[in-house]
Amino acid sequence: MYSRAVRALIASCLVILVAAPARAQAVPTPEQFFGFKIGTDGELARYPKILEYFAALAKQTDRVKFEVIGKTTMGNDYALLRISSPQNLAKFDRLVEINRRLADPRGLSDAEAQKLAAEGKPFYLVYATIHSTEVSNGQAILHIVHRLATESSPFIREILDNSVILMVPSQNPDGQHLVIDHWYKTKGTNNARVYPDLYHKYVGHDDNRDWFMFTQKETRMNIELVQNRYKPIISHDMHQQGPNGSRIFVPPFTDPFDVNIHPLLALGQATVGQAMASALIGEGKEGVAWLEGYDMWTPARQYMVYHGQPRILTEIASSGGNLADPFTNPQKGRPLGPQESRWNFPVPYSKDTWTLGQQVDYGVTAALAGMSHVAKYGREWLYNFYRVHRDWASYDKGPFAFVVPATQRDQFATYEMLEILEFADVEIHRATAPFSAGGKPYPAGSYVIKTAQPYGAFAKTMLEKQVYPDLRLFPGGPPEPPYDVTGHTLWMLMGVTVDPVEKAFDAPLELVKAVTPIATPAPARPKAAYLIGPESYGVFKLVAELQKANVPVFRAGSAFDGRPAGTFVIPSTAASQPIVEKAAASLGLVVSGTDQMPAVDGFKLKPGTKVGLWKGAGNMPGGWLLWLLEQYGVNHEIVKSQDFAGDLSQKYDVILLPSGTSKTRIVSGLDPKRNDAAEWSWAYGVGDAGWAKLKTFVQNGGTLLAIGSAVETARELLDLPIEKALPEAPPRFGPGATRAEESVPGATVDRALRDAFSSPARLMQTLRDRVADPTSLFYCPGSLLQNEFDTSNPVAWGMPEAWPVFFETDQAYRLRPGFGIETKVVSRYPRDHILQSGWLLGEEYLKDQANVLSFRVGKGYVVTYGSQVDFRTQPRATFRLIFNALFHGPSTPVTAAQMGR
Ligand SMILES: [Zn+2]
Repeated sequence: MYSRAVRALIASCLVILVAAPARAQAVPTPEQFFGFKIGTDGELARYPKILEYFAALAKQTDRVKFEVIGKTTMGNDYALLRISSPQNLAKFDRLVEINRRLADPRGLSDAEAQKLAAEGKPFYLVYATIHSTEVSNGQAILHIVHRLATESSPFIREILDNSVILMVPSQNPDGQHLVIDHWYKTKGTNNARVYPDLYHKYVGHDDNRDWFMFTQKETRMNIELVQNRYKPIISHDMHQQGPNGSRIFVPPFTDPFDVNIHPLLALGQATVGQAMASALIGEGKEGVAWLEGYDMWTPARQYMVYHGQPRILTEIASSGGNLADPFTNPQKGRPLGPQESRWNFPVPYSKDTWTLGQQVDYGVTAALAGMSHVAKYGREWLYNFYRVHRDWASYDKGPFAFVVPATQRDQFATYEMLEILEFADVEIHRATAPFSAGGKPYPAGSYVIKTAQPYGAFAKTMLEKQVYPDLRLFPGGPPEPPYDVTGHTLWMLMGVTVDPVEKAFDAPLELVKAVTPIATPAPARPKAAYLIGPESYGVFKLVAELQKANVPVFRAGSAFDGRPAGTFVIPSTAASQPIVEKAAASLGLVVSGTDQMPAVDGFKLKPGTKVGLWKGAGNMPGGWLLWLLEQYGVNHEIVKSQDFAGDLSQKYDVILLPSGTSKTRIVSGLDPKRNDAAEWSWAYGVGDAGWAKLKTFVQNGGTLLAIGSAVETARELLDLPIEKALPEAPPRFGPGATRAEESVPGATVDRALRDAFSSPARLMQTLRDRVADPTSLFYCPGSLLQNEFDTSNPVAWGMPEAWPVFFETDQAYRLRPGFGIETKVVSRYPRDHILQSGWLLGEEYLKDQANVLSFRVGKGYVVTYGSQVDFRTQPRATFRLIFNALFHGPSTPVTAAQMGR
């Protein structure tokens, strides 16, 4: 299934091969095929040609199978290689069957499992590249695959005979194209060589933070067509870290670890990681580290450990912004990375330079060492795979189950939550009659998710509240930052009520074969209008459809006839009827009809409400918001520098500033001297004149929404009467922090902190110096925090009185006196029990402080969200805070008499 061009290339390559001497020379080396030695400074094999090479290999050897299993977000080929001995590949289906049986061992005895383990072969799945600017591993696999395809050494034979390698050459092929093409396009110019925008259309570097919400095409493709289909017993993620730390990280990981990860998997990670370390150090490769930086907490990047597999992470030092060129320590002569030997870092790296060739070599050694180790102990690996699932299938420590009551505020959210669990192969049951559990009655139709099932680990970690350990750098000292976020309780993110039930209970249950939206038929066409409550965030898909069809939509400004404020009033017409009926069926919206327009004042939404999304180059929160707006069908466009030549209000009703949009980014933007105008002028700065225009846009009646760190930008722009309520967060450090800073164009790298990496003692001292009084800390690195909502405020229409919001190193605000600006508090932190899931230090600073605020500025409307209520589009329960605001801002007030007209 290649394009015609690829087929032609393969054909031409075959012609060459036929002409070449037979047998051993039949398979070209990477060097012959690409015309340069892989790992040469400055040179990168391009992704399409890498796939051509693999396709050619697959034709020449019976050890390699190559297939394109789907298309990516931008329409590129997503590929999978299967590599093993011809004998194993011939019985591939039987081997998969064994994996599947061991993955769901219910009814299997230990003795039968032993037999299957002896017959089977362990599947080692490699993700060669996930983050596209981490370029060396995508190159290293050319050597790895060539060796596996051609070599007859006992070392390679053992891997082929005793295991099956599954290889995803890239988990984000789009990024391979963007980054490597840009690298060559800018060669010999003054332009920045590293691609300045997100290397995945929507999620950029967050493409490996999607492994529990499964939002992106590539994530879904991999889970459905690789993970869940073949049930590998181990997954290896090949990554690269910044250029200033260790040369390579291998497992074991550092604390904390999620206790839902079976200890055999944590140990398996350590075993394979140490086998890699031995191979690297044995070959004289310096700077190998383990037990640092990377933890095992969030499922967002480790689907596999909840599905019976150790996750092997390798993080090879990169060349940073030099990409494929060598990296040299700015302090010439000073070796790169820490220089003190420690048990988890026995041999410091001794040179001041680091090349692509070295990165490739480290990758080859580490991956082959991992494969070799697994091949040697295949039977044990398969038997452990069985034991992990056996233990989960007979889990009896509580909770016994999670119950999802049939009656929910938002049926669409319930559907989406169950679909996520189902996608991860979690079994869901539904009650066929009422029952009681944990002393509480539940109606028929309630869902029950039992913990005792093969993938109970995933269900449990997603449905329980996270209690994050209080990790400190030294007793009484500052917190030890997690690698990523700390709270992910799915039902809190979604806005669904779920009850954990500790003790076993009986209920009449049936297995749910396929999760579908809980359809509620719409009523026969009413005389006056359809009425839909504001409680489901899914309703905004309907609103966007109605806007597209130019059907008027009204909202009640206050409660009426027992219905809440914000109720949608959609005049019943031939145009609205099919759209409303379809939404009722596909989204599970509860629709009722009225033969008389409700006697209530309200608002008429502006037809075709147009949103301008300020997604500056490289802004990840903006990328996620782009995905969100597309998913919901909201009329939107990315704001361009060129828009500022005209009147902004002619183009946009609403401008949305995602977190990370600072004044500097708006005014300065991408540097025109370093970024080609034809491609990048849209992201150039708008200057002080543009900044002033943005202010005028609001004052003349525009709507501005600002999220997370962009609240400070909006405050500065409009002199909003608010001030920060929280002390500054302690400095963040760790491989994640520095790499993230370095990968975001324009971000300031904390050099003092980065330099302190050369020595743990120095790093500790730097932190001691900076955190004068650790007891006065505020720290919240990604948790769910309780908010109380003013549900009469249009921004919070449809919210419960209280619900958790996502908070990731964000801010809370207090009001200060302001003249001429009307300010309303939409949500605030309560006085106690603020932390709902995750980690929070300094809770007292949040008490009674404001989170979401709405303002009237001149004729305009502004809403600020102090916390990232849209974080990675995971907290769906709070989507409506954004949707409500963006439709409300440009709407027109109507009296009861004008309602529906
Ligand atoms: Zn990475």
